Amino acid sequence: MKKIGLLGATGSIGLQTLDVIRQHPDQFSLCCFSFGRNKETAIEIIKEFHPQLVCCERKEDAEQLRSLYFSNVRFVFGEKGLIEVAVYDEMDCLITAVVGSVGLRPTLKALEAGKNIGLANKETLVTGGHLVMEAVKKANVKMIPVDSEHSAIFQCLRGEHSDEVEKLILTASGGSFRDLSREQLQYVTVEQALNHPNWSMGAKITIDSATMLNKGLEVIEAHWLFHMPYDKIEVLLHQESVIHSLVEFKDSSVMANLGNPDMRVPIQLALSYPNRMFLNTQRLNLSEIATLHFSAVDYVRYPMLKYAFDAGKTGGTMPTILNAANEVAVEAFLQRKIPFLEIETLVYRALEAHCAIFDPSLETIEAEDLKTRAQVCQWIHSRG
Ligand code: NDP
Ligand code: MG
Repeated sequence: MKKIGLLGATGSIGLQTLDVIRQHPDQFSLCCFSFGRNKETAIEIIKEFHPQLVCCERKEDAEQLRSLYFSNVRFVFGEKGLIEVAVYDEMDCLITAVVGSVGLRPTLKALEAGKNIGLANKETLVTGGHLVMEAVKKANVKMIPVDSEHSAIFQCLRGEHSDEVEKLILTASGGSFRDLSREQLQYVTVEQALNHPNWSMGAKITIDSATMLNKGLEVIEAHWLFHMPYDKIEVLLHQESVIHSLVEFKDSSVMANLGNPDMRVPIQLALSYPNRMFLNTQRLNLSEIATLHFSAVDYVRYPMLKYAFDAGKTGGTMPTILNAANEVAVEAFLQRKIPFLEIETLVYRALEAHCAIFDPSLETIEAEDLKTRAQVCQWIHSRG
């Protein structure tokens, strides 16, 4: 029995992870989890999965749950609590499914404690990739990607030699606004942005898909996970999300990973690795799909992807700034404080204002992350 820990259990990836655990009660159990503010769902999870340790974002929720329910569950809270879950002694594998750079420190602590990781929280690698990869190497543990593109590449690379890879090709659906011009983007609403054509995901990543920064973050994620220079990573528009990504080898051969869009497939592989298990999901029927579409990315239409490549190539704290500014800007858009196109304006402004610090420590990353958040908040506030 593999004992699973889950950061962000109440989110989109969290709930799908629970569904995989539910499908294999003799293989997996949930020993600990964290959630943010969705207490109702957290209570349901506790009742169904009987974990021993639960972390709430807020102290008052931990106190309330402790007094009202479940005397055999230990409740903790805040960042300290997240770390307690991340290093929980009984746990064999941690799925990191919180959203945002809040995942960095707990992931590093989990690695230090020798835990295997299923990594969904891409912001962790974007903001502290060099620290995370160093920790993985030092701890000699497995970090299996959950992001569908990276799981696809990981699967294409199984049994291959990394020095025989020519390039990685990440596919991108184009997000909710792929058929709109830049002019039309001026008037889009939050509801339209949240309506992704292929995937049902959390709000932040759905907006990131619409701006294409999600693919930018994934480029940086791929750079770290597969030790690949940026000029060997490409993005290809592919609207059906059936080909999850591709790898081209030196001899021109290309391997791809295909499947219906269902995040439970990469989640389950991260849990069952190195084995594969049955999953109750819809099978791919290519004759029914019949046609797949591909096109090159237009960097004028999607400037955020260019910002991400540039930030990644510069390195140091630049990707931290990209990510922190974007997290604040996306939240402001979701709260209807700024229009959609202002997200990229704020991110660009933050990048322009920053002078990269190279080989940053965790403390430097966290300080620069906070500084950027405060600055972008102030810019939003002063728009009036
Ligand atoms: P969601 O927004 O659906 O879920 C986020 C989870 O994190 C929730 O459990 C939420 O709690 C919790 N959370 C949010 N903020 C905090 C905080 N400050 N402290 C502690 N917990 C917090 O996100 P997704 O599941 O969509 O995404 C999770 C991660 O996986 C992201 O990094 C995303 O990029 C990545 N990913 C997601 C995919 C998807 O299909 N959804 C695909 C590939 C990658 P609560 O809701 O209780 O407040
Ligand atoms: Mg992805």
